[in-house]
Amino acid sequence: MKSIHELMRETTDPFRQGQYSLMDMMGVEYPCDKCSGKGVRAYGSTATWGGGIGGQAITNGVCDVCWGTGDYYRHGMDLRVLRSKNLMEKKAASLALEGLETDGEHHKQWYLERILEQLSIDKSLWPDSYTEGIAP
Ligand SMILES: [Zn+2]
Repeated sequence: MKSIHELMRETTDPFRQGQYSLMDMMGVEYPCDKCSGKGVRAYGSTATWGGGIGGQAITNGVCDVCWGTGDYYRHGMDLRVLRSKNLMEKKAASLALEGLETDGEHHKQWYLERILEQLSIDKSLWPDSYTEGIAP
């Protein structure tokens, strides 16, 4: 893999030199092979990096390999992970709010168990006194 400085030295095309110069200013050392160092790429539908159902148009969006940095080794925030974390937090908050309205002997522990599961907290971190099967 060639660095941006090697690519700049090798080309005599002024357009390419300009592109590489911009990438160098963005901090790209080794251009991402998916987006060629631009940080954005064309997707085959309007769903872009999110996947799922999209319209019938080719759409530009943040590169889902380097996540916008344009660099092969230095990646930005993975938006899929961020979206997943956001959904988990919303589910956990919803359970906690629902639990506030419910009173009873085991409800608190049952809700806490659900929340910890939603947050994907490793069960090895749960207290030794925990036993599975808390009744709702
Ligand atoms: Zn990329």
